[in-house]
Amino acid sequence: MKTYQHYINGALCDPASGEWFDSENPYTGEVWAKIARGNAEDVDRAVTAAKATFDGEWGATGPTARGKLMVKLAEIIEREAVRLGEIEVRDNGKLIAEMGAQTKYLAEWYRYFGGLADKIEGAVIPSDKPGIFNFTRYEPLGVIGMITAWNSPLLLLSWKLAPALAAGNTAVVKPSEYTSASTLEFMALIEEAGFPAGVVNAITGFGMEVGAPLVDHPHVDKIAFTGSDVSGQKIYEAAAKKIMPVTLELGGKSPNIVFEDADFEAAVMGAISGIFAATGQTCIAGSRLLVQRSIHDKFVKRLVEVAGVAKIGDPMSTETHVGPVTTMPQYEKIMDYINIAKSEGAVCVLGGDAYRGAEAKGKQFVQPTIFTGVHNQMRIAQEEVFGPVLSVIPFDTEDEAIAIGNDIVYGLAAGVWTSDIGRALRMSEKLKAGTVWVNTYRAVSFTSPFGGYKRSGEGRESGKESIKEFLQVKSVWIAQQTTAANPFIMR
Ligand code: NAD
Repeated sequence: MKTYQHYINGALCDPASGEWFDSENPYTGEVWAKIARGNAEDVDRAVTAAKATFDGEWGATGPTARGKLMVKLAEIIEREAVRLGEIEVRDNGKLIAEMGAQTKYLAEWYRYFGGLADKIEGAVIPSDKPGIFNFTRYEPLGVIGMITAWNSPLLLLSWKLAPALAAGNTAVVKPSEYTSASTLEFMALIEEAGFPAGVVNAITGFGMEVGAPLVDHPHVDKIAFTGSDVSGQKIYEAAAKKIMPVTLELGGKSPNIVFEDADFEAAVMGAISGIFAATGQTCIAGSRLLVQRSIHDKFVKRLVEVAGVAKIGDPMSTETHVGPVTTMPQYEKIMDYINIAKSEGAVCVLGGDAYRGAEAKGKQFVQPTIFTGVHNQMRIAQEEVFGPVLSVIPFDTEDEAIAIGNDIVYGLAAGVWTSDIGRALRMSEKLKAGTVWVNTYRAVSFTSPFGGYKRSGEGRESGKESIKEFLQVKSVWIAQQTTAANPFIMR
């Protein structure tokens, strides 16, 4: 049995509470690790360490040196990617085929933002004040609290950590209580890369015991959060009391819209990838499939054919298509939504129940499920399920597709399948979502901004602009010659 301690000021240490909690493998149902149960005292130690190095050694480390450390970290990540991927699969049950590639890809965030570290430039402002020189400086914020969800722990962390470090901040990280191990393993890589002690710290534990004290801590200068909109709202409210900036990457209920002129087979695969990849446990799940009525029945028939033979089972097998649900509460939530959809009158054309095949060792498997006859006002169409449950909604015209697509509190992503370039451009303009994919789905990169409209979030991660989420701008005025001016009027 592995034991994972906190990582504070460059050292592993036991929790102040003296308590530990279990980490379960969602595929086997077995406990495989013990995780330190943090509290406010641990948070305070970590924040104190992060502040001390921000005010000291890290603050004095120049941007080129910061960038070099990040590039070194990228190399170490690539070396360790397979191992990290396996740890994530053990904790969250996502497919090794996806997680192995994802952990390798993390390196690119550190390379990209490491390269940006010494390209953070202010400006000389053309001044209308004679004799006063004015320029801007971009400065780090200080200690960043980073709180992540369980579905892609290291990816979600890297989206925050890479730009934050490049900008010169320090970090206290709190991973999800369901998937803490990979984040703690990652701390060893940071140490090996040579970051000074205290630059990155990790405290494990529960939302109210570690996350909330981290948000409230007086020396935390920003929270970068990924999780549900319910938790995001609480964090936003707590941050408001401190007038503290936040980035919030929250949930979604994304429309994936198929027009009759689309490449039929590509759109079918796009719809499947939108909802059944990662067992539907992705914020960008295309969980509302809008299909033009002229092809609706044929499209649903083909969807059922393809999804109906998806191989369910061991996430460590490269043959598997659909793995377990990561947590028991999430499994129960998905099963509740399946029952809600049935009681609302949606027609279940595939799945609609737990999966109990021999390959499903644990208790947390759900059959890929498709509902037709869904109306956009039903709960199954409006609320995030975060599981392999697809709602199919027919439409007739482009305007109707836009209206249904936007008639939702969320705005994280949208998909459009069409061979008409004019329509692709019109749809990508009209859909109210932070990401729009045309004739593809689930493409993300370190180069491209990601984030939500509406209730899906605040701020952006990735892409070069996102470094500004971790900087503040200072305007400096310097008089070229000193004069004793009238002190009672503005300059
Ligand atoms: P969650 O909100 O329950 O938990 C997320 C993290 O917040 C955990 O570490 C948890 O311990 C912590 N937390 C919970 N309450 C807190 C509080 N009051 N103060 C501080 N911390 C608190 O979410 P989850 O179930 O782990 O993740 C699933 C959700 O995350 C889904 O809604 C999904 O859409 C969303 N998500 C969004 C993105 C994105 O980039 N937009 C990516 C992945 C997941």
